[in-house]
Amino acid sequence: MPTYQPASSVSSGALAHRVGTLTRRTTPATRPTPGSHPAARAKETPLALKRRARRINRTLQVAHPDAHCELNFRTPFELLVATVLSAQCTDVRVNQVTPHLFQRYPDPAAMAQANPAEVAEIIRSTGFFKTKAANLVALSEHLVAEHGGEVPAEFSALVALPGVGAKTAHVVRGNAFGIPGLTVDTHFGRLARRLMLSDSHDPRRVEEDVAALIDKSEWTMFSHRLIFHGRRVCHSRRAACGACLLAADCPSFGAAGPTDPAAAEALLKGDNIETLAQLAGLEE
Ligand code: SF4
Repeated sequence: MPTYQPASSVSSGALAHRVGTLTRRTTPATRPTPGSHPAARAKETPLALKRRARRINRTLQVAHPDAHCELNFRTPFELLVATVLSAQCTDVRVNQVTPHLFQRYPDPAAMAQANPAEVAEIIRSTGFFKTKAANLVALSEHLVAEHGGEVPAEFSALVALPGVGAKTAHVVRGNAFGIPGLTVDTHFGRLARRLMLSDSHDPRRVEEDVAALIDKSEWTMFSHRLIFHGRRVCHSRRAACGACLLAADCPSFGAAGPTDPAAAEALLKGDNIETLAQLAGLEE
């Protein structure tokens, strides 16, 4: 198996070479015609779909070697709280409020004693703050009463906590306990559908569809990579199709955003735009 180094430690030329040898590299000459992908014409076999899904994972691994959970946390409890707060809110915003919140309420025992109105005031900028505050206090009481003040790793125990659904449970299990899981958030769902790895809008169905395509050991990192790609390249409104290194493997190339390289490159976000553009064959 090939090994990968962080993008910052290798040249963009070397990265592009890896994309070319380990994946189906997109270059100006190989850039597809919108709508021409076999999957877009319902002509992809189940085996070809599985191979394409795994190739997409390898390509994303090269494009986003630093993909990780973008919520700041030091303990399973902090990750649980941060993930609850991230509903309908950006990770950046959550990371702005959690230092104060964790200083005031560092563990379930402290949060269980909290006045929900005080918690709500601290987390106000994350939205839905009254409901989130009530859930945080209630789930902390539950952790103290049922789990000795510890966050459980079992899926069934996590989703039994107030305000905790499957997505939050997978985030906590994958990133605090190292248990593989697919985190189907808004970015994951959108990209899974555009890449035609799933046709469902039901997160549980998307999870099942992708789980059948990607090795279990890769589930957590595949989630991070897909979410990174959604935040930096494949945006919900105007995707940077013409600057996307998944173009050759994407049935939605050109349907979600401009194929013109210059227009697409202007849509890239993040701190490695130049590398992403080079990997997509836009710059040498
Ligand atoms: S940016 Fe375009 S080509 Fe890339 S994954 Fe999204 S829809 Fe497909």
